[in-house]
Amino acid sequence: MLEVIDLAAGYNGLPVVRDVNITVSGGEIVALLGANGAGKTTILSTIAGLVKPIEGSVRLAGEEISGLKPHKLALQGIALVPEDRSLFLDLTTRENLTVAAPRGAVRKSEDDILQLLPELKKCLNRKAGLLSGGEQQMLAVGRALVGSPQVLIVDEMSLGLAPVVVERLLPVLRDVASTLGAAVLVVEQHVSLALDVAARAYVLAHGRIVLEGAAAALRKDQDLIAASYFGDLAAEEQLSADRTDDDDIEATS
Ligand code: ATP
Repeated sequence: MLEVIDLAAGYNGLPVVRDVNITVSGGEIVALLGANGAGKTTILSTIAGLVKPIEGSVRLAGEEISGLKPHKLALQGIALVPEDRSLFLDLTTRENLTVAAPRGAVRKSEDDILQLLPELKKCLNRKAGLLSGGEQQMLAVGRALVGSPQVLIVDEMSLGLAPVVVERLLPVLRDVASTLGAAVLVVEQHVSLALDVAARAYVLAHGRIVLEGAAAALRKDQDLIAASYFGDLAAEEQLSADRTDDDDIEATS
């Protein structure tokens, strides 16, 4: 559904991410991991049209979409839940959902959204600014779903939230992927939780993907993730060379 091919992107013509290749199928959840400043948000912003690619391409269901404006991408089915959630804090939950979908998109009804996110029912008439952090994040996801996206991109799902809240939030993504058939790409700091919910993961260090593989295989090899996370490429390559028995993990640098 979503293909990022040989992408370079950054700011003022200078790339902060390079040679990025990511694929996410419909119904699949993929995690994008990496230390602060690795370039995760830059990749998500480029897919959502907020940052222009310098090189490479982004495809949605085989169609080239790189360089399109964010509102066009939203209409084509790309929905971003940004790190700051970008809710209208003075509007109620219901009003935030009402104003959410891009004009011309196939709208999901409030009932459809509440089926996926039942916790929002009790919040419908409450202003977004008065919701808890977990409820706000659910509303941000719900708002992204109103336009029936084919691709849901979530930046830092758990930022500022207690682990117990995160444990409830991440499985929502599983429902989104399985019920809506959407491709879900999520940036998540809680590596273990991310690998529990995702089918595959990519690890980014210093703007390059240094490790990718099946989440189940990566879960068993936290040392490899830790080494790649901090860009300790020598250690990572050694660890990678040591594990000749697992084809599901690929160190890409
Ligand atoms: P974090 O987890 O801290 O959000 P990240 O992995 O999402 O980190 P990015 O936010 O993509 O990383 O940042 C990657 C690099 O790009 C960093 O060095 C950052 O300082 C730089 N950067 C981010 N946004 C801008 C911008 N608007 N202008 C210039 N440089 C930027």
